[in-house]
Amino acid sequence: MNIKDNIDEIKKHLPADTRLVAVSKFHGVDEILEAYESGHKIFGESRVQELIEKQPILPDDIEWHFVGRLQRNKVKFIVPFIDCIHSVDSKRLLYQIEKQAADVDRIIPCLLQIHIAKEDTKTGFTEEECWNLLSKGKWREWSHIQLAGVMGMATYTDDEEVVRKEFVKLNAFFKKIKEHFFADSLHFKEISMGMSSDYKIATDEGSTLIRVGSKIFGDRE
Ligand SMILES: *Cc1c(COP(=O)(O)O)cnc(C)c1O
Repeated sequence: MNIKDNIDEIKKHLPADTRLVAVSKFHGVDEILEAYESGHKIFGESRVQELIEKQPILPDDIEWHFVGRLQRNKVKFIVPFIDCIHSVDSKRLLYQIEKQAADVDRIIPCLLQIHIAKEDTKTGFTEEECWNLLSKGKWREWSHIQLAGVMGMATYTDDEEVVRKEFVKLNAFFKKIKEHFFADSLHFKEISMGMSSDYKIATDEGSTLIRVGSKIFGDRE
């Protein structure tokens, strides 16, 4: 199996409105180009340094998604070109993205990362924190961030039912905040959930973006 076959295999089973983000972290430019040349255009990276080394030497029409933990002092390096930030996990990070995006006159789609897993190592807002942030309404004044949906990472376990429950919960929370805060927004529409080990469960449960790395590019370690 090569990269193109792996991508085709994943896409074959995707619902029509679910998009694949090929997570290329730790993989070289040649491997990304191989995927690109087979027709895939959406790539995800989780480290700023690695992303800013790759992005300038790869084709301009790649849609870049940032999926990893983002430090505030690094936002400025990615705002000139990033197409979506999946991993927004604090109010302070949102403020920083708004400020830096204003400086380069761009509007950046951002997903609110929600803590759904059992492990405390996975970051994100609790549902309550997220609800409170949205209730305060400050975000309505931001003109360089487009709140576009939610992201979550399930518990790392073989127990499919645990994973499924977490995805169901994230979808329910998405619907709740969409209805309450974004009823008249066309942009708040993404549920980013599902990785190599659990993307099939995620798409069953309504994922609109899956973030798949090792299943496309092979193991990283
Ligand atoms: C690395 C990573 C992925 C892809 O993980 P795989 O298990 O290799 O598919 C997805 N989302 C995030 C946030 C990641 O850091």
